[in-house]
Amino acid sequence: MLKVYISSMESKDIFVDVFAGNSAIELKDKLGSSEKVVLTGHRSPDGDAVGSCLALWNHLKEHGVESTVVLPDEFPTFISWMNGKDEIVLHSQNPEAAEKLIEEADVLFVLDYNDSSRVGDMQGSLDKSNAFKVMIDHHQQPSDFVDLTFSDEKSCSTAEMVYRLIERWGQKDELSAASAACLYCGIMTDSGSFRFPSVTPRTHRIAAALCETGIDHADIHSRVYDNNREGQLKLVGYALTEKLEVFPEHHSAIISLSLEELARFGYEKGDTEGLVNRALSVEGVNFAAFVKESEDRVKLSLRSVGEFSVRDFSSDHFGGGGHHNAAGGASSESLQEVVSKIRGLLPEYSSKLNY
Ligand code: 5GP
Ligand code: MN
Repeated sequence: MLKVYISSMESKDIFVDVFAGNSAIELKDKLGSSEKVVLTGHRSPDGDAVGSCLALWNHLKEHGVESTVVLPDEFPTFISWMNGKDEIVLHSQNPEAAEKLIEEADVLFVLDYNDSSRVGDMQGSLDKSNAFKVMIDHHQQPSDFVDLTFSDEKSCSTAEMVYRLIERWGQKDELSAASAACLYCGIMTDSGSFRFPSVTPRTHRIAAALCETGIDHADIHSRVYDNNREGQLKLVGYALTEKLEVFPEHHSAIISLSLEELARFGYEKGDTEGLVNRALSVEGVNFAAFVKESEDRVKLSLRSVGEFSVRDFSSDHFGGGGHHNAAGGASSESLQEVVSKIRGLLPEYSSKLNY
C-alpha cells in the first residue's frame, strides 16, 4: 500500500494546507464503507487528545459512522463532561477489549501523537494492527508507522486540525454543539487559553465558528480550570513555596515532586497540570522543568520561551520529544538523579538562554 505523507513543513516560508488535496476526501469515502473505526490518543491523554477523539467520535456518529475511542489510560476528571466519555475503552482497565478493537480495526486514527511509543502498553497492538492508520497531529517529526499522515506542526492543537478536516469534508455547517465543545476544549487547553504563539487568526476564526454552534465557552473554561480540589491547590501551593528552585544565572527554574509529597496532598492525575508554566512565569526564566516521580518512572515536563528548544533538550538528554517550547520525557533513574542531571546541564545552556 502506498503511504501518503502530508506535512505543512514543505518550506519554512510556504504554508501548506495539509487537508487541501484528495487524501482528506478519499478518507471520508473510506470511512463511509468501514465497519470498524477506532480513534486513539496518547498515554495520559490531555484536553486535546480526548477532545479530538470525542469530537470526531460524535461527528462520525452523527453522520452514520460508528467508531470507538480507545485510550491507553485514564483521562483527567476536568474533561469528564464531554459527550461520549462513558463509551471510551481504556486499555489500563480493559486491555483485552482495547487490544481486540485495535487489532481488528479497518481504520484507526492516531490523534495528537506522532509515534507509536506514545501509547504505552497499547504499542504492541498498534504495531500489529493491519488497520488503515491515519495520523492527525501537530507534533514535530512524526514517525513512519501510519498509512496517511496529516502533520501540521504550525497548528496550535490537533483539535484545530480535526475542525479543518471536517471543514474539508464540507460538513462545517453540520458540526454539532457536542462535537464543537470537545474541539473548543482541545484548542483552549493546548493553546494556554489562546495565548501561545501557535495561536493564529485562523485559530480565532475556528473558535468563533465553534461558538456559533451554541456552545457555552465560559462554561467550558470554568469546568476545566475552576474545578480544583482543596488538596490539589495546596499541592500547587507547596510546590511553589517549598520546591521551586530558581537559577537566575542560568535563566532557569526547576520544580520536583516525589511520590511521598504527591501522596501527602492526595494527588490525583492532572493535579500538577500547568505547574511547569508557573515556574516559567518567573521573571527572567526562559527554561522551566517540572520533574515528577511516579510508580514506574520519573516524568519530565519542559517549557521554554523564545529560541531555546526544549524538544532538542529532551531528545538529547532524556529520549523525549514534543514541541519547540513544550516538550516532555521520562527516565528510569531516581527523582534525585534526574534533578541533579538537569541542574548539572544548566551551565552548558546558560548562554543560549540569555535573551
Ligand atoms: P507535557 O509537559 O504537557 O506532558 O507535554 C508537553 C508536550 O511534550 C506534549 O505535547 C507531548 O507531545 C510532549 N511529550 C511529553 N512527554 C513526552 C515523552 O515522553 N516523549 C515524547 N516524545 N514527547 C513527550
Ligand atoms: Mn495536542
